[in-house]
Amino acid sequence: MKIIPRNKVISTFETVMQAVENVAPGEIIKFEANDSYDKQIDGEDKFRDQIDESRVNFATGPVFVEGAEKGDLLQVKILDIALPDQGFVVIRPGFGVLGDMVKKARTRVVTKIENSLFCFMGMQLPVRPMVGVIGVAPLEGEYSTKIPWKHGGNMDTNDITEGSTLYLPVGQQGGLLALGDCHVMVGDGEISSGCEASSEVTVKIDVIKNRKIEWPLVETKDYTMVIASGDNEFDAAKEATKQAVDLLSKGLGLSWDDALLLASLTVDLRISQISNAKKTIRAAVPKYIVSTHKLIAAC
Ligand code: CA
Ligand code: CA
Repeated sequence: MKIIPRNKVISTFETVMQAVENVAPGEIIKFEANDSYDKQIDGEDKFRDQIDESRVNFATGPVFVEGAEKGDLLQVKILDIALPDQGFVVIRPGFGVLGDMVKKARTRVVTKIENSLFCFMGMQLPVRPMVGVIGVAPLEGEYSTKIPWKHGGNMDTNDITEGSTLYLPVGQQGGLLALGDCHVMVGDGEISSGCEASSEVTVKIDVIKNRKIEWPLVETKDYTMVIASGDNEFDAAKEATKQAVDLLSKGLGLSWDDALLLASLTVDLRISQISNAKKTIRAAVPKYIVSTHKLIAAC
């Protein structure tokens, strides 16, 4: 299995990037993902407002996928997220949902991450590992790895986890996949920060030819979710809803009006994150209406 080493990183998703590895469709590879602070926070005496911001949210990669071309989908199945034995949770003034109320930066170390549990302030909590940043080269422009957009990026979506499959619109030849910013656990919204931890993420990569989606999709056991971002929560919610209604209309052969009526009953809007410069909402379409496969086949 090819390993993408943690010293090969990007801080922006750009249209032209130098690939660090080539893989074939169907290949299983492992990314060594750095923690989002690049080891600058390694104890409770290190604070989020004192670190070098240019080293925050590196993504490991990018990886060139043979046969992936503009207008295709990159299918990334998350097989495993291996966590280290500690992680860090932070708050700081001016950051996150209650940033205006935070007086002083604080850091808590999370320890004893083992057997799917971890220890936090004396409590045992279940791990819920996820990948915060994952994306490909965009169709146009360039995006810091701190920003989510149509190419993916810093989506901080809890459903990008073990067992899920992510579908990304290929913007450039080879796709150029990179990922990082893994969390041991984080609540929907990412109120202040996730439990940031370096991780090893094993994925299976495939290419689906000639299928166009505008924003990333993530497939879970029960849902197909459109992950959309915007300048504010409403813009993100509107975009996610628009895409979900379009998917339902095409996938089920419904008029737009009928698809909207169906979406109004069955689609859940969920907050992914509202702590980044752009906000991310996902629209969850239940599989009991239509399978992910059928939705994608109609794209
Ligand atoms: Ca993040
Ligand atoms: Ca993070």
